Amino acid sequence: MNRRRWLLQIGALGVLTWRGARAADASDSAAAIRAGWQRFLPANHGLSLDLTPIKRPLKDWQAELPGDSYAVLFEEATEPPGSSGYNHEKRPGVFVCRACQLPLFTSEMKFESGTGWPSFFSSIPGHLATRRDFKIFIPRTEYHCVRCGGHQGHVFDDGPAPTHERWCNNGVALRFLPRDG
Ligand SMILES: [Zn+2]
Repeated sequence: MNRRRWLLQIGALGVLTWRGARAADASDSAAAIRAGWQRFLPANHGLSLDLTPIKRPLKDWQAELPGDSYAVLFEEATEPPGSSGYNHEKRPGVFVCRACQLPLFTSEMKFESGTGWPSFFSSIPGHLATRRDFKIFIPRTEYHCVRCGGHQGHVFDDGPAPTHERWCNNGVALRFLPRDG
C-alpha cells in the first residue's frame, strides 16, 4: 500500500469513529431526555401516572370536553394549522392528554417545526401507542394516549436531532402544566 492511500484510509477511519461517537452521544441524550421527563412535573401535581386503560362511554367524554377537543380525541379530527396557542409555549412543564390528563410530552421534547402544530422530537416512554392509518393517500403513523385511547396526532421521521422524529400534535388534544406555576 502506498503512503498516500494509507493516510487516506487512516483519515476515513477517523471520520467514521467520530461519526460513531456522535451517533452514540445523540442516542444517549435522547435516552436521558426520555428518562428524565418527571423533572418537568409541577410540584404537587396530583396527576395519576397509572397506565391501566380507562373504559368509558364516548358520551361521557363528549359531555366533559370542549367540542373541538372531543372531535380530535375521539373522532380523529385535525385542528386548523396555526390555531394552537401551544405553538408558542416555551415554559418548562409537561403536556398532558386533554381527556385523561396522562403526561405525554415535556417542554424539553418540543421544537419549532414551522408546520403550525405543536411538535415534539420525542415522547414520554410508554404513554403513547401508534397505529398505521390510511385516511389520506399516503400511509401515516397515527398515535394515541395509551390510557384513554384519545387520538393526539401523527408521527413522522423528518424531525430534528437527536431522534429525527416529529410528533405532530393537535394543541386541543393537550393541556400544558407549567412546572413553576
Ligand atoms: Zn388520555
